[in-house]
Amino acid sequence: MEKINPAEPAIGCRVKQETIVVALGGNAILRPGQRGTYAEQMENVRKTSAQLAELILNGKRLVVTHGNGPQVGRIFQQQENGTRVGIPAMPLFVCGAMSQGQVGYMIQQALYNELIKAGCKKTVVTLICQSLVDPSSEAFQNPSKPIGSFYSEAEAQKAAEEKGEVWKEDSGRGWRRVVPSPEPLSCVEIDAIKSLIAEGVVVVISGGGGIPVVRDSSGILTGIDAVIDKDLGAQVIARETGANVLLILTDVANVAINYRMPEEKKLGAIPLAEMKAYYQQDHFKAGSMGPKVLAAIRFIEGGGDKAVITSLENALLGAEGKIGTVITR
Ligand code: ADP
Ligand code: MG
Repeated sequence: MEKINPAEPAIGCRVKQETIVVALGGNAILRPGQRGTYAEQMENVRKTSAQLAELILNGKRLVVTHGNGPQVGRIFQQQENGTRVGIPAMPLFVCGAMSQGQVGYMIQQALYNELIKAGCKKTVVTLICQSLVDPSSEAFQNPSKPIGSFYSEAEAQKAAEEKGEVWKEDSGRGWRRVVPSPEPLSCVEIDAIKSLIAEGVVVVISGGGGIPVVRDSSGILTGIDAVIDKDLGAQVIARETGANVLLILTDVANVAINYRMPEEKKLGAIPLAEMKAYYQQDHFKAGSMGPKVLAAIRFIEGGGDKAVITSLENALLGAEGKIGTVITR
């Protein structure tokens, strides 16, 4: 597997070795019960960045990916509300790009500042990331991810007829638009990411798993309204950069089997084959732990050294495989 050449260390930083792709969960940016003001989100991101800075200060090369659920959801609602005062709504995929800019800016600045405080000057950049998806994949046959506000049946029907959108009734609460959740196949900007990593730049990429795009037979890209899983998006980046470690940081320290049942058991260091067996036995919920475990399995199968799922607070020890659920071959 292709590994990126170690770059010259920046002043004040130790020599870099391993490349780690981090996937930040929702709690890294917005905590339960918070309104989601800029100040709240920035303070969360600052604390998150202090953890990430530790990795860099301990000689790791870092690529940061992140979730964007609450952020893109709110931007989308702002579009809906804007139409009432005559401002044209941007499509969901443009909202995805906006959220990458928003969260990326916060991480970019906060991580830069945490490193400066530690005497390490490093460039941190955010790239808008387009994730290629296959329009003929099964996900497009049955759109299932609800987005935006609830509407009446009449409004839903009108939108379905006029715009060709898919709308579904949501357990008695009203009608919501649903979009597909396809698998990310590759990241269009991967060569730029690899060059930047080789230059010693910290890259923030693949917010929300990337903006879903399709490519036609002449190579032309077009954005589409869909939702990509951020952990699977992180795995694509980890695979394509030849990273050593995929570090998935969430709000639990370990993955468990028989989760929330009397016989629950937390998983520590675990070989790939055992993790695959548990995955096939449906121990991990779709939409939360399921995609993290799947991303970890795919990463190791694709030649990665180590995939770790643990909590944000455990970032450094997790990256070293000393804590959390650590999947190896
Ligand atoms: P993130 O924003 O980090 O992606 P998610 O909510 O999607 O967070 O996934 C983390 C959550 O997955 C945990 O808070 C936990 O409640 C849930 N979860 C589901 N199944 C399991 C499991 N088998 N072991 C541990 N946590 C699980
Ligand atoms: Mg999640």
